[in-house]
Amino acid sequence: MIRISSFALCAAVAAPGLLAAQGRGRAAAAAPAGPPVLLVPDRVWNAVDDAPHDGWAVLVRGDRIEAVGPRGQISVPSDAKTITLPGTTLMPGMTEGHGHELLHPYNETPWNDQVLHEPLGLRVARATNHVRNELLAGFTAERDLGTEGAMYTDVGLRDAINQGIIPGPRMQVATRAIVVTGEYAPKGFATEYQGEMPQGAEEADGPDGVARVVRSQIQHGADWIKLYADYRWGPNGEAMPGFTQDEMNEAVDIAHSSGRPVAVHTTTTEGARRAVVAGVNTIEHGDGLTPDILKMMAQKGICYVPTVSVGNRNKATILKNAIEAGVTICNGADAGPLAHGDNAKEVEGLVADGLTPLQALRAATVNDAKMMHWDDRLGAVKTGFLADLIAVKGDPTKDINALSQVPFVMKGGVIYKQP
Ligand SMILES: [Zn+2]
Repeated sequence: MIRISSFALCAAVAAPGLLAAQGRGRAAAAAPAGPPVLLVPDRVWNAVDDAPHDGWAVLVRGDRIEAVGPRGQISVPSDAKTITLPGTTLMPGMTEGHGHELLHPYNETPWNDQVLHEPLGLRVARATNHVRNELLAGFTAERDLGTEGAMYTDVGLRDAINQGIIPGPRMQVATRAIVVTGEYAPKGFATEYQGEMPQGAEEADGPDGVARVVRSQIQHGADWIKLYADYRWGPNGEAMPGFTQDEMNEAVDIAHSSGRPVAVHTTTTEGARRAVVAGVNTIEHGDGLTPDILKMMAQKGICYVPTVSVGNRNKATILKNAIEAGVTICNGADAGPLAHGDNAKEVEGLVADGLTPLQALRAATVNDAKMMHWDDRLGAVKTGFLADLIAVKGDPTKDINALSQVPFVMKGGVIYKQP
């Protein structure tokens, strides 16, 4: 069961005392009632220390970690059940920090056809497979950044998981995401129909219009507000900014006032600049980030989610500049375009683009937990934290590809996968 009491935002400019977003419909599944469980891998990487600890074990009682340390120093209750995980490293469950559970890869079905031809029921049915696949791949938390035409169905998915109806990661959701009129897609219809066609995100214009839509999405269950600072709507189809500075400021003001953070899609430099000036919480993709903007992000505590694994996006230079500037780098694969269940490819991609395995592992654990304001209960193997734990074959701090073999998955003390 997730209990959320405080909600401290990444961005230093955020309103103080923000409250938890995940309110509605959150009758959570009860903690498992069975005996305590002692997990005995070859080593534990707790995400706090750099090096994994050989010979450590973890004791789980209910949905929490009761003890972690050298096996001989843990006092194990007589009724505890021992699970040995030979050849593995036990570590915190990972987070998919930028997912779209209502999408599947475009080589299966083009995005336009998913949005226009797949009924909501079908999309939700498929999404139940997506969330299960992600959990079984070792991703115990997910931030969903837009249903792409599937309205508010991410809210129901989140709640179904929290209530134990279907297996999946703990979710924070953005619902429909917000664009300015004309910016987004599907496009290319006869001009007389174009304004009537359903869109992959909700349109809003002018500070008042933006305020209304942000509040409406909150009313419908959004934990995050997702804005598209830019999209491919330039005169030649190139990415150009959408929201004006005033509109962006208004969205951030309204969202923060309600205790919700703001995630912003940007690929242009000007789009990113406006978002950062407005004091958003995370920059997604960030293809246009310059050293100056990255410096501002570091000052404001704005996290960066580079999504290196979709498209042909070599972000090595931007990532190097981001690290130099001191920006918190988070893990998010844009799962949806990337197959759900292949989420670890992003963590591997971060290493391919120049992060050390340790930096990439932290992006997917402690940094994502901080981004989601769950760092007081998730993202590390610590006494008192929720028992969201996975075991991977080998040592991921030495070889990041270890993340593709996940024989053990536990979320909230419940075992979903076991060798
Ligand atoms: Zn996305």
